[in-house]
Amino acid sequence: METYDNWIDGGYVASPNNLRMATTTPFTGEVWAEVADDPAAVDVAVKAARAAFEGEWGTMPAAERGRLMRKLGELLTRDAEMLGQVESRDNGKIIRETGAQAKGLQSYYDFFAGQADKISGEKLPNPASNFLVYTEKVPVGVVGAIIPWNSPLSLLTWKLAPLLAAGCTAVVKPSDITPVTALLLAERAPEAGFPAGVINIVTGGAEVGAAISSHPGIDKITFTGGGATARHVARAAAENLTPLVLELGGKSPQIVFDDADPDAATNGILAGIFAASGQTCVAGSRAYVQEGIADEIITRIIARAATIKLGDPADVATEMGPAASDAQRDRIISMIDQARAEGATIAAGGVVDPELGGRFVRPTVITNVTNQTTIVREEVFGPVLTIQTFTDEAEAVALANDSEYGLAAGVWTVDVRRSHRMARKLDVGMVWINTYRNVSPLVPFGGTKQSGYGRDNGLESITEFLETKTVWVELEGATRDPFVIG
Ligand code: NAD
Repeated sequence: METYDNWIDGGYVASPNNLRMATTTPFTGEVWAEVADDPAAVDVAVKAARAAFEGEWGTMPAAERGRLMRKLGELLTRDAEMLGQVESRDNGKIIRETGAQAKGLQSYYDFFAGQADKISGEKLPNPASNFLVYTEKVPVGVVGAIIPWNSPLSLLTWKLAPLLAAGCTAVVKPSDITPVTALLLAERAPEAGFPAGVINIVTGGAEVGAAISSHPGIDKITFTGGGATARHVARAAAENLTPLVLELGGKSPQIVFDDADPDAATNGILAGIFAASGQTCVAGSRAYVQEGIADEIITRIIARAATIKLGDPADVATEMGPAASDAQRDRIISMIDQARAEGATIAAGGVVDPELGGRFVRPTVITNVTNQTTIVREEVFGPVLTIQTFTDEAEAVALANDSEYGLAAGVWTVDVRRSHRMARKLDVGMVWINTYRNVSPLVPFGGTKQSGYGRDNGLESITEFLETKTVWVELEGATRDPFVIG
């Protein structure tokens, strides 16, 4: 079994109380590594991050920051195969996805590295002729990043790359289910040339997360995870008025109109919900299909769901892996049972795979539901698709928007005007038209309503980690009335 300490100030450091926890591989349930789980380590990490921010990192030219980020990206690509394997072992996602995600990390460091030396304020119009007024964009300081288990390296990178470009330092807590790859990423930081203390990784569970959320030395928190956890984080952060970025869950609709390409729509719906065993925030878990094409699409989806190949995530032939934990499997099954009890029809799956057992839930398709059925309203975070039909565009919009979440939506139609009308009417952060689940460093990612606030990725994600400082300069030395503002 492998053992890891926290990564703080450029190296592995034993945690103050030497508290530890185990991490398992979902495929076998076997413990494969042990990591630190000590809330007291957060303070040590915050001090290291502050010292780096006030030291070498804070004074480094922005172009040099970008150069180090590019180098880190290269090192991650060099070691992508190993990183993809470890990620797959730790969260049970198929190697096809974790391998591709590991190879894709470099593009994020490259994009944000290119932005590092393009951050600037502006000279403002003079409020009066004797003034010079300008703004500077300054890094917020030490950022606390709390990451979920479903795409640990990618979701960490979505935080880390923009915050490094902005000139901040980080205290990162990966999920207790998948703690190791964040440490492996940080191990590569010294080789890339990063000063000690810029990237700090503190592993552990809820108590470590809570220590980050409530730490007064953290200037901004960026969190990806579930809504219930986000409320704990937001409450703790409120004590210090620490600002937040929250990327939360979803219940994203996939809307198929009669004129859609049936092959593309079927593939898009299947990929949207069964990729990553449905354990993605943007899972397209609610399908709404127009009546004229419904029979064809529903028949195809049910047939294909039955043939999806479950198995060892490390096998490249595997199409769907297990749920990440026993608790997650139990939750998925109990939500399916509840749907059945509420009168829904389980048209495919609905059970733990009879041959593989363990954490393998069969790809599940549920019909005979309404927007009031619990499983249509609540995030499952598993391979469960509900399908409903609709008659016209207005009904599709009403059904899709009738959700407390607003992360993403898919629209399948070849009518170009309708596709843009739908994009305009859907109350979500991201709309995919005739495609689904695309992400890129260039493109903002995030949601509305209970799906959170703030954005990962895109140029605007850098602004989440910048503060505007305004500077007034009086040029003439004119005397003014000390009792009047102006
Ligand atoms: P989670 O909320 O259980 O955990 C997220 C992180 O918070 C983990 O690191 C966890 O250890 C930590 N945590 C737990 N309790 C805490 C506390 N009291 N204080 C501070 N931190 C605490 O989420 P998860 O199960 O790891 O991930 C699944 C959820 O994440 C789903 O809801 C999913 O939709 C969401 N998600 C959102 C996005 C997005 O970008 N919008 C991406 C991926 C996942």
